[in-house]
Amino acid sequence: MRPQLSKGKIFAKVLLFYALAGLLGWPFGQSTLFMLLLSLFLLASNYKHLFLITKWLWHDRKLTPPEGKGFWQQIFDGIYYQQRRERKKRKELRNLVRRFRDGAEALPEAVVVLTSDWAIVWCNKLAQMLVGLRWPSDEGQRIDNLVRNPEFKNFLKQKQFQQPLEISASGSSNLVLECKMMPYGSEQYLLIIRDITQLKQLEQIRKDFVANVSHELRTPLTVLQGYLEVIDAERLPEPAMWQKAHTVMLEQTKRMDGLVQQLLTLSRIEASARVQFDEEVDVPAMLMSLEQEAQALNREKQHSISFSIDPDLKITGVTEELRSAFSNLVTNAIKYTPDGGEISVSWQRQHQRAVFAVNDNGEGIAPHHVKRLTERFYRVDQARARNTGGTGLGLAIVKHVLSRHNSQLMIFSEPGRGSSFSFSIPAELVLGNSKTAPLKKAKFKVK
Ligand code: ADP
Repeated sequence: MRPQLSKGKIFAKVLLFYALAGLLGWPFGQSTLFMLLLSLFLLASNYKHLFLITKWLWHDRKLTPPEGKGFWQQIFDGIYYQQRRERKKRKELRNLVRRFRDGAEALPEAVVVLTSDWAIVWCNKLAQMLVGLRWPSDEGQRIDNLVRNPEFKNFLKQKQFQQPLEISASGSSNLVLECKMMPYGSEQYLLIIRDITQLKQLEQIRKDFVANVSHELRTPLTVLQGYLEVIDAERLPEPAMWQKAHTVMLEQTKRMDGLVQQLLTLSRIEASARVQFDEEVDVPAMLMSLEQEAQALNREKQHSISFSIDPDLKITGVTEELRSAFSNLVTNAIKYTPDGGEISVSWQRQHQRAVFAVNDNGEGIAPHHVKRLTERFYRVDQARARNTGGTGLGLAIVKHVLSRHNSQLMIFSEPGRGSSFSFSIPAELVLGNSKTAPLKKAKFKVK
C-alpha cells in the first residue's frame, strides 16, 4: 500500500513534538531550552538520514534501503520501489533487445542498422562476414567509409531506395551482393545485404545456354532453308503430298529462323550490360524506311497506316536495338489488327522527351494479358500467334531495349477497340535539348 504523507500530518506531528518538549520543560521553567534541544535533535536526525540516503544511493551497491525513522522510512521505501520498477523495466527491455538481435542474427541476410547520416548503429554476424564489418569496433563509423564502392556511395547519396543495388564485392571472391535500404524507426535505416552470386551465375549459365543453342542452330537451319529453297516444288515427284510437305517445311524453317534470330537479338542485348550513349540515332530516317517496310507488309491486310514524324527529333542510343524495338511494335500492329484497320504511328517531342506511339483499332487485349505481354514466349492466343508467324519474343526484346535506354513500354488496350503501345525517351537522351549530355560523355549503367 502506498503511504500517505500530507502537509497536515507533518505539521501536526511537529506541533505535537514541540508541545511535548514545552510541557516537559515547563516544571523546570526551561520550555524554550527543551524546544531548542528538540530542534537540535530533529536537525541531527535529519542529517543522519540524509547521510544514510546519500551513502545508499552513491556508495552501497545494495538494492535494499537502510533502516530509517518516521517519514524517512517512507522516502527510502519510495526510492526502493521506484528502483525496483526501473530495474524490472530495464530487464524487460534488455530481453526485448536480445530477442530482436537473436532474430536478426538468425536471418539469412546481412543486416546493418544505420543512422540518417550512415553511421553504423548495429550489424549482425553475416554483415561482418559478407562486407567485412567489425562489431563492436565499427560502431559509429560511416558505412561508406568501410564499404568502399563508388556505386554504393552513389546509392547512399541519391537516396533512391525503391530499387535494390547490385554490387560486386572487392577482392578475389567474385561475390555479387544485392543491397536493399529501408527507412525504419525515427531517422534510421535498415540495410539488408544478400549474396546473389549463385543466382547471377545461374542466370549467366541460362543466358549463355540460350545464346549458344541459338548460335549452333543457325548453321543447320541455313543449310536446310537453302536446300529447300533451291528445290523446285513443281518438279517434285507425285504424290502431291510431297509438294505440300515442301511448302510446310519451307514455312516452318523460316519460322524457326525468325525465332533463332530473335533469341540471338535478345541474348546480344542481355550480354552487353552497359550502354554508352555516344551514338547519334537518326530516328526520323529510321522510321521513314520502316514506313516503306510496313507498307510492303501491309499489302495483304490493306490497313490505312499513317506516320506522323518530327523530322528533327534525333536521340542518342544504340541504333540497331532501337530499330528492332520500333519495328516490333509497328509489325505487331499490322499483324494483330484485322484487315482494313487503322494504324497510326507517331514520333513527337513532348516536354523535352521523345515519345513514340503506335495506335491501332484492332481487337485489343484483355487486361489480365496486358501485364504479361513482355514475358518471353507469352502470347495471348497461342494458335493465332503461330499462324501470324509470331515467336512471342518481340515485346520481350522491346522491353529490354527500352530499359537500356532508361525508358519503359506503356500498353493501353481495350478489347474490341484497339491498343496503344508507346514509350518516351528521357530528355537527357534527346538531341537538341539543353539538358542533353554531350555525345561520348554520357554513360548510364543499365541492368
Ligand atoms: P509475337 O512474336 O507473338 O508477336 P510479341 O512479344 O511481339 O510476340 O507479342 C506478344 C503478344 O502480344 C502477341 O502474341 C499478341 O497476342 C499480343 N500483341 C502484341 N501487339 C499487339 C497488338 N498491337 N494488338 C493486339 N495484340 C497484340
